[in-house]
This record gives sequence, C-alpha cells and structure tokens, in this order.
Amino acid sequence: MIPAKSYAAYSQSTPLAPYAFDRRNLRPDDVHIKIHYCGVCHSDLHQVRDEWGGAKYPMVPGHEIVGEVVAVGPAVTKFAVGNRVGVGVMVDSCCSCPSCDRQMEQYCDEGMTGTYNSYERDGVGITQGGYSSDIVVKERFVVSIAQHLDIASVAPLLCAGITTYSPLRYAGVSAGMRVGVIGLGGLGHMGVKFAASFGAEVTVISTSPEKEADAQRLGAHRFLLSTSKEEVKKHAGYFDVLLDTISANHDYTDFVRMLSLEGKLLVVGLPIEAPRIAPGALISKRRSIIGSMIGGMKETQEMLDYCAEKNIVSDVEVIPVQYINDAYERMLRSDVKYRFVIDLSTL
Ligand code: NAP
Ligand code: ZN
Repeated sequence: MIPAKSYAAYSQSTPLAPYAFDRRNLRPDDVHIKIHYCGVCHSDLHQVRDEWGGAKYPMVPGHEIVGEVVAVGPAVTKFAVGNRVGVGVMVDSCCSCPSCDRQMEQYCDEGMTGTYNSYERDGVGITQGGYSSDIVVKERFVVSIAQHLDIASVAPLLCAGITTYSPLRYAGVSAGMRVGVIGLGGLGHMGVKFAASFGAEVTVISTSPEKEADAQRLGAHRFLLSTSKEEVKKHAGYFDVLLDTISANHDYTDFVRMLSLEGKLLVVGLPIEAPRIAPGALISKRRSIIGSMIGGMKETQEMLDYCAEKNIVSDVEVIPVQYINDAYERMLRSDVKYRFVIDLSTL
C-alpha cells in the first residue's frame, strides 16, 4: 500500500483535520500521482456537510487535482514518470455502456465513480480525494497538463473549467450570442472567461455589486445586479444562453423569463432544494432548461488543450491546507476571488 497524508472531514459538523490512510498498490493501468495543488469546489462543502445525502466519513474532499506522475503500472501507455497531470471529478466508470462508448463517462449508465465520497466499482472501497499527498488513478481518468501554464492556476480547470466549458460548447456559444453567467464564483468566473473567448457578448448576473470591476477584468462586457427587480425586468427576453452556477436555493422563473425565443438555461449549480419554475415562462417562448455535469475525459483534455493555446487559467488564492475551514466559511459568504487552491506541500 502507499501511505498518504491528508485533511479529512470526520463528520458533517466538525472542522476538517489531519488524516493518514493508504492508497491502493498500482494495478496494471494505474498512475501514481504526487499531488501538488488541489482546488476547493463548492461541491466539497456540500458533501462535507452532507447536504446531498450519502456522506461517507472520514471524507477527504478535493476533485481539482494537479501533480506529477511518480510511478505507472505496466499497462499504462499515455503517461510516464515526471509528466505533469491532472485528475478531476471522476476516477472510474463502467467503460462499456453507450455513454462511456461516446466518451461521456460522467453520464455512465452504471453511474460514474466520484473522486471522493464514492464507492469503488467493487462496491466496497471508498474513494478519497485531492486534499492529500498522493493519489492512484486509472489512466483513462488522468489528463495531461501543458508545461507553460501556472500549475496552481490550472487546478480549478479540472472541475470549474470543464463544468462551464462543456455546456457552453453544447449550447453552441459563439460570436454574436448574448450569454449571461449567473453567480460570479469559481464556476462563474470560468464561465465568463470561456464565453468571452468564444466571442459572445457576456453579462455577469450577480448578487454582489462589488464584483462589477472584476467581472469586466475577467472579460465580461456587462453587469446585471440580480437583486434589482427593475434590472431583471428590463432584461426580459434578452439572453440566448444563461449559465446558472448558483450554489444556494433559488427560483429559476425570473432567469427563464430573461431568455429570448428558444433560449437555453444551462444549469450546473446544485443547491439542496428543488427550484420553482413557472411552466408559462418556458412555454411562452419555447425556452428550455438543460442540466450538465462536468465533461467526459476526451472533452476535459480538449478543454485543457484549448486553455493552453489561449492561455486561460483560473484566478486563484493559494492557501495552506490548515486554512481550509476558514476558506469554507468565506465561500459561504461568496467571498472567493475566484477559487481557493490548496498547496499540498503544506500538509
Ligand atoms: P462558489 O465559488 O461558492 O460560487 C457560487 C456563487 O453563487 C457565489 O459566488 C455567488 O455569486 C452565487 N450565490 C451564492 N449564494 C447565492 C444566493 N443565495 N443567491 C444568489 N446567488 C448566490 O461555488 P462554485 O464552486 O462555483 O459552485 C457552484 C455550484 O455548482 C455548487 O452548487 C456546486 O456544487 C455546483 N457544481 C456543479 C458541477 C456540475 O458538474 N454540474 C460541478 C461543480 C460544481 P455572486 O456573488 O456573483 O452572486
Ligand atoms: Zn467541483
């Protein structure tokens, strides 16, 4: 076994604390990665606090992992010792259903295996994530990272990046389209960068007026304060595409009314409670609501290659692992600029 150090949640109400455990020995198609940095996603907080149900403790969160290959199994063909690599939200799937065959392992018919808080495919072992020193992952679920990008700023691309890139591509976002990004946090700030790089006119739709200058710096052309009823009303029928990244409970109806004829509300935020939606708002202009979960491994590599070409990375605040509980509290106050990333050398 491979000894690993980490920070883990021992229950839903206690602060994360140090935890030592073992990673599995390498299978033939496994890659052993020394983790350098790991981003902090709002999904970590939802799961640590068991807001979605099914929490398994001790839980080592973290699914925005970057590091260096230190060993490979004999059947590994894509990676070698010394390579710079990443791991995102999933570490396995059945690899043979129609979704997996279409390179969309995140929609695996048997359910993907999450990087942490998930049962291994043997139904017994429990996965542990990236707030740790080491991880062992099947090579299909490992991606390559370009050398010239700042490695800490790349980490959030593994979840916040692909989760916004994939639906914006699916919706065909391109020059001349009006795109609104709802919520300027970890996902939202990547949504702004991607939508702007695809040539769209981008509006940030936010509850935080103090984020307006940042929104512009990140590439947005317009800013809409969602707490102003007047502003919201003024934008009825305005947007071709809206990307909803809000982490807290909220209604969809006002946002749907802001969509144009056949406009699309892309939902990626995962609050606890089911949202309210007035059917009339959908029907009156043949609008649709589309859910999207991360992206497949092929598309994740494509997104990373696109970022390498366009020099797109996240805006990060690098923190020592001991700061994680404070980082969670700041995340709950929407005080993140715009992603915390843990430096695992501080473990
Ligand atoms: P985050 O960094 O905390 O950002 C969330 C943003 O939502 C905040 O910055 C804030 O933006 C806005 N917000 C927060 N509370 C709000 C409220 N009460 N009303 C309206 N807006 C509010 O979170 P994140 O890491 O980007 O994650 C966002 C959500 O996506 C989470 O629910 C997460 O679990 C989910 N997620 C889904 C996937 C997927 O595959 N679909 C992947 C990763 C994460 P403003 O200050 O601008 O209003
Ligand atoms: Zn995430």
